[in-house]
Amino acid sequence: MATMNKVTPRSIWVGRLDHGADLLEEITTVCKDNNIRLGKIEAIGAVKKATLGYYDQKTMAYGFFELDRPLEITSLVGNVSIKDGEPMVHAHVTLADHDGTVMGGHLAPGTIIFACEATIQELEGEELVRGMDEATQLPLWDM
Ligand code: ZN
Repeated sequence: MATMNKVTPRSIWVGRLDHGADLLEEITTVCKDNNIRLGKIEAIGAVKKATLGYYDQKTMAYGFFELDRPLEITSLVGNVSIKDGEPMVHAHVTLADHDGTVMGGHLAPGTIIFACEATIQELEGEELVRGMDEATQLPLWDM
């Protein structure tokens, strides 16, 4: 059965992320600097290049691949929760090529911003803390 917490909306942060910055690092810094410990994230824009992850469910390990070219961020969705006492951003992105071909995956360090407009919705409620999940070997929310 699904385990869900009821949360309520707080402030919404909206802004522009820095050209040339690392996308995951930049969002994480915004959360840490503003003490956002629970929230949801969305963004659009473009990247100079990307590094994405894919979790192999057989080997239970992440594989990472690079897309070393300019791409549109057609969609970034993610959340903020707590890992090792600190806000941790988990985000997935869909990126589009010059002809609209899309690729996507788990946002990893090494994705460099060309331009990015981000919205972070801060949520009020019980903090979600990540702990190792036996079945998936992923640091999932410990609920
Ligand atoms: Zn992921």
